Amino acid sequence: MPEPRDHIAKLADACVKCGLCLPYCPTYALDQIETESPRGRIALARHATDGSLAPTADLRAHLDHCLGCMACERVCPVPVQYGKLLTAYRAALPPAHPRPRLLLRLLTQPRLLRIGLGTARAAKASHWLPPLARLLPRHSALRAAAALLPALPPAVHSGNAHTSSPAKPRGKVALFGGCVQGALEREAQDATARLLAAAGFEVIRIDGLCCGAMAAHTGDASAAEAKARRLAQAFATSGADTLLTATPGCLGTLRDNLPGIQVHDAMAFLDQHGDTLRFRPLPRKVMLHLPCTQVNVARADGAVRRLLARIPELDVTTLPPRGMCCGAAGSHMLEFPERAASLRARVLDTMPQPAPDLLLTANIGCRLYLGAGLRERSDAVAVEHPLTLLARQLAT
Ligand code: SF4
Ligand code: SF4
Repeated sequence: MPEPRDHIAKLADACVKCGLCLPYCPTYALDQIETESPRGRIALARHATDGSLAPTADLRAHLDHCLGCMACERVCPVPVQYGKLLTAYRAALPPAHPRPRLLLRLLTQPRLLRIGLGTARAAKASHWLPPLARLLPRHSALRAAAALLPALPPAVHSGNAHTSSPAKPRGKVALFGGCVQGALEREAQDATARLLAAAGFEVIRIDGLCCGAMAAHTGDASAAEAKARRLAQAFATSGADTLLTATPGCLGTLRDNLPGIQVHDAMAFLDQHGDTLRFRPLPRKVMLHLPCTQVNVARADGAVRRLLARIPELDVTTLPPRGMCCGAAGSHMLEFPERAASLRARVLDTMPQPAPDLLLTANIGCRLYLGAGLRERSDAVAVEHPLTLLARQLAT
C-alpha cells in the first residue's frame, strides 16, 4: 500500500486540467470559483497533503463542500479517479469544520435509529420540534435534522423481513437494507423484494448493517472498514451470489469495500432480469428525480426510466437538469444546511407547474430533503421510491 501522500499525488497528477468537468459540478455552478470545482479541489488536495500549501480550515472547507456526486468522474476524459482521491484525502486530512458526531453516529446505527424514530413518531415530534429548532442558528445540524421530520415516511411493519422465495427460483440474491434506508424505507425494501421474487429470484434480506459510506466520506477509514467486514460476513452467510441495493447512494461504497462480490443496483438488475414482470396501467403524472449517484455511480438512470415506461399510461417527467444536485448528499444537508438549501432551491425551481402530486426518487436522503423542501413551499407532493410504485402496479 503506497503512502497516503504518494497515493493522493498519483491520483491528482492524472488530472490534465482541461476543465471539461466544471460545467457538471453543482458546487461550481453555485459559487463560480475554481476552488469549488473538481479541478480546483484536485489541486488543493494535492498541495494540502504534500505540504506545499498550508492545510488551513478555509482551504479544507472547499474540499468539505464537495457533494461526492461524481458528476466530474463520469465526464472526465482521462478519467481521473476523483472518488478514490476524495476518500484518500479525507482519510489523510479529515474534515476541518466541527462535525455533528452524535447525530452522524445515530444515522449509521439502524437499530438505534429505529428506536429514535419510533420515539419521535410517538411524541409527534414532527409537529413541535421543527419550530423549536428554528430558534437555533441557521447552520445548526440539529435544526437541519429537525426540519426533515415532517417528511418522514410513515412507519411500515415488514410482513416478511427475512426472505422472499418463488416456487422454483432462477437465482439467489441478497438485498442490502442499509442504515437510514433500512430504518426509514421498509416499504421500498419490501417492494424491491417483491419485484425480485416476482422476477423469479429467491431474496435474502441483509438488514441492520451500514455500508460505511458516511464513515468513508468523513475520513473515518477504520469505521468504514469495520462495517465492510461485517457486511462481507453477512453476505457470505446468505449463500447468495449477488448483492443488490435499492439505494444508489450505497452502491459505490459497497463496490469499493467488497471487492470480489458482485454488487448491483436493484433497478439495473430488475431492468435486466425482470422481463417477465407485467404491470397494471396507471393514468397519472409523476416526476422522477434522478439522484446523482443513480446517474453517475450506478449509471442506472436509463434502467429506472425503462422500468417505469413499462407501466401503461404513466406519464413521467424527469428532473433535475444536468449539473444539479438536490443538496442532500449524505451528511451534507446536516453539515452545510445553508449551502444545501441553495442547491435544493435550484432543483425545486425546475419543477413543472402545476407540479404532479407524486415525486419518485431512489435515495432516502433525497427523498427526505426534497420532501421537506416541498412541504416548506406548501406543495402537496408525495415522495416515494420508484420501486414502491412499480411493486404496487405489479399485475399478479
Ligand atoms: S478532473 Fe478530468 S475533466 Fe476535470 S479538469 Fe481534470 S482531467 Fe479535466
Ligand atoms: S463530486 Fe460533485 S461536487 Fe464534488 S467536485 Fe465532483 S462534481 Fe463537484
